[in-house]
Amino acid sequence: MALMTGDEYIESLRKLKTRVYIFGEQVENWVDHPIVRPSINSVKMTYDLAQDPKYQDLMTATSNLTGEKVNRFNHLHQSTDDLVRKVKMQRLLGQKTASCFQRCVGMDAFNAVYSTTYETDEAHGTHYHENFINFLKMVQKNDYVVDGAMTDPKGDRNLAPHAQKDPDMYVHVVERRDDGIVVRGAKAHQTGSINSHWHLIMPTIAMKEADKDYAVSFACPSDADGVYMIYGRQSCDTRKLEDTKNDCGNPKFGGQEALVVFDDVFIPNEYVFLDGEYDFSGMMVERFAGYHRQSYGGCKTGVGDVLIGAAALAAEYNGVQKASHIKDKLIEMTHLNETMYACGIACSAEGHKTKAGNYLIDLLLANVCKQNVTRFPYEIVRLAEDIAGGLMVTMPSDKDFTSDTVAGKNGETICDICHKYFAGDASVPTVDRQKLMRFIENMCLGTAAVGYTVESLHGAGSPQAQRIMIARQGNIEGKKELAKAAADIED
Ligand code: SF4
Ligand code: FE
Repeated sequence: MALMTGDEYIESLRKLKTRVYIFGEQVENWVDHPIVRPSINSVKMTYDLAQDPKYQDLMTATSNLTGEKVNRFNHLHQSTDDLVRKVKMQRLLGQKTASCFQRCVGMDAFNAVYSTTYETDEAHGTHYHENFINFLKMVQKNDYVVDGAMTDPKGDRNLAPHAQKDPDMYVHVVERRDDGIVVRGAKAHQTGSINSHWHLIMPTIAMKEADKDYAVSFACPSDADGVYMIYGRQSCDTRKLEDTKNDCGNPKFGGQEALVVFDDVFIPNEYVFLDGEYDFSGMMVERFAGYHRQSYGGCKTGVGDVLIGAAALAAEYNGVQKASHIKDKLIEMTHLNETMYACGIACSAEGHKTKAGNYLIDLLLANVCKQNVTRFPYEIVRLAEDIAGGLMVTMPSDKDFTSDTVAGKNGETICDICHKYFAGDASVPTVDRQKLMRFIENMCLGTAAVGYTVESLHGAGSPQAQRIMIARQGNIEGKKELAKAAADIED
């Protein structure tokens, strides 16, 4: 089997015994849970589009490991062209789902772990690269979703992993056996963890010798003994439990984050990709973060495309589409969105080959990309809210829009009154305006805002993390030399 269909993907999830807790209780059938399902639908789109001949170039690639056709989400980038296609694929998926489609964390982890294990082996004589290649071949063959997991809970941020009061604040090795290791800890804010078949764990920071047991990377099935997940709630998530879908905003798709706990999980040697080589922890982190910062130049611009479209529609429904300030706001939103995309493409085009052979983005440009992403979606949201008007947060519920309770002196129902007073352009059904306002609300403040604004800020590292990298990569010394030469200053 090379490529699964979307439906086969959903059926494959049903076979897993993944332990999931939502609102304090274990959920057996999480695949059909109304809060979880939209996030599964988003991942399903990565399978559906890979089946569509129209998107073959973006959605699939030829594996350098097996020569077989694989989903691009499971591919090791073989050129700068592959890196560019990755960003284009993510924009496409953002446009189709208007949410986080989750599968990129695995792709970014594959590419980071592949090149880091190569260099770790070179320095330490270990065999992690071979382990990893065998693991990835299995993933490609089965077309699995793998959750790249990096962020530890971190406890007191002022203390190194080994110095924490609670030693489990970072994932660590608690036992070494002949046949493998036992790990304990948790990964927080894990995108798409429940919807993944496997997990690929990486350390979250550069480490020193005292943190040896924390410098660990490995893979394990999502339903391995000792692994469980506590679902992250999102603003307005319980609207998905209501009978109507008209108040959801984006009823079909969504993102997903969870706390993933490793409660003394045994990892066989063949799935270990780093164990104690603390000097390579930083490389893995930097590369994964770099790839994921590139990713945001794709996914967030795709989601931005939908929000810009929604704002333009809202203007039409209100009859103000010809106003010059509306046109100007749409221009500004487009300018911001395309700037993020330009950075995603630029860091890809300027990528280079790693020692292992796959391609890495230009790290400075990837960090500049993500730094813009920590700001521009907020401005795009502000402009979308400006154009949409206050109705996006004051409109009555769909139950009111369908209520037959009589309220008016002439027998008008609540439904009649809502449709009368919330009508805009007479050619547009009020229900369309209602759905659109809810969609914009969802993107700016509801469940989708997790993926569009706050994730833009903190996902792939908070703004300060990029500034540290920009400082490191910015070559101020080199620029000083340029200034001296231009000003004819001699040393
Ligand atoms: Fe992919 Fe974007 Fe979600 Fe990260 S935030 S997993 S890049 S869609
Ligand atoms: Fe993310």
